[in-house]
Amino acid sequence: MVDPSRLQITFVSTWEDGMHFSKGLTFANKEAVKRALIIYAAKDNRNFIVRRSTKTKLCDACVNTNCKWYVRAFMKAKLSGLWMVTSYVGPHSCVPFGMRRDGKMMDSNFVASEIVGKLRQNHTARIDELWEIIHTKYNHKLSYYKYCRPVISIDGTHLYGKYRGVLMIAMATDANQKVLPLAFAVVDKESGASWGWFLECLRISIEHVIPNEGICIIFDRHKGIKCVIAEWPRGEDGNLQVFHRYCLRHVASNFNTHFDDPSLKALALKAGHATHEAKFESIMQTIKDVEINALRSVQPDDSHIARYMPYTYLMSEDLDKWT
Ligand SMILES: [Zn+2]
Repeated sequence: MVDPSRLQITFVSTWEDGMHFSKGLTFANKEAVKRALIIYAAKDNRNFIVRRSTKTKLCDACVNTNCKWYVRAFMKAKLSGLWMVTSYVGPHSCVPFGMRRDGKMMDSNFVASEIVGKLRQNHTARIDELWEIIHTKYNHKLSYYKYCRPVISIDGTHLYGKYRGVLMIAMATDANQKVLPLAFAVVDKESGASWGWFLECLRISIEHVIPNEGICIIFDRHKGIKCVIAEWPRGEDGNLQVFHRYCLRHVASNFNTHFDDPSLKALALKAGHATHEAKFESIMQTIKDVEINALRSVQPDDSHIARYMPYTYLMSEDLDKWT
């Protein structure tokens, strides 16, 4: 993340907020150029595309191909590595009619640099307080979860450092496969109560961003999570508005705990990843054959008979929920 105080060294950056670009403007480094371009675009509600970006060159143009707005900046070795605008065509001739002010031109580094000061003062600042910083300064209402897939993955992991406990996290992915953390919390242990609290906080936060419907939640089959999701408010038709699926990695890992057989686990994963029914059936048939063979040497009244039944175990796992 970029510390904004590092970027605006007054005697090297000749551009200031509110100015247009012009040939000859200097910047401390490439990050400072990028930052200025984002601020300029945000204030004006225009957007740009990066035409070329190397260690010594940056060329940006307006997203609107009819608009000739263009900036080119170079790193000047002779000027101690300062960056200088060497070509500028502007201002924009396009009209930002109908363009939402949702901060589309702001990347995560930029947003982070804007909110880090507030978080240093108060690390429990709420998301809407952080949003407000951008809104007040640039008059943009940032979208966050809005452009993500409506799929949330949640998981918990044990902490083994100085402080014990469980770290719970919820994340989403966008169309570029970027993972966006939505929420995290440290709790004493994984239980119905702790998952209940975490998911309730998550649910309330999400409501501020998107309609609370059609969301799919992927998790590890912890019973606590399943119970909490079943309690989420239902639609007018009485049906659940949130769907849940089981993380395939966890399904396979639980499967392996039961059967302690890496090759069977690999087959279960392969079946889970299969995108054609015939392929799935064929892999499952292999697992079924293992079960049939194993059962040949087991008495029908063996109290541990389930240990020899990997196929039966998997088929009882709600196949359409494997994800
Ligand atoms: Zn333009």
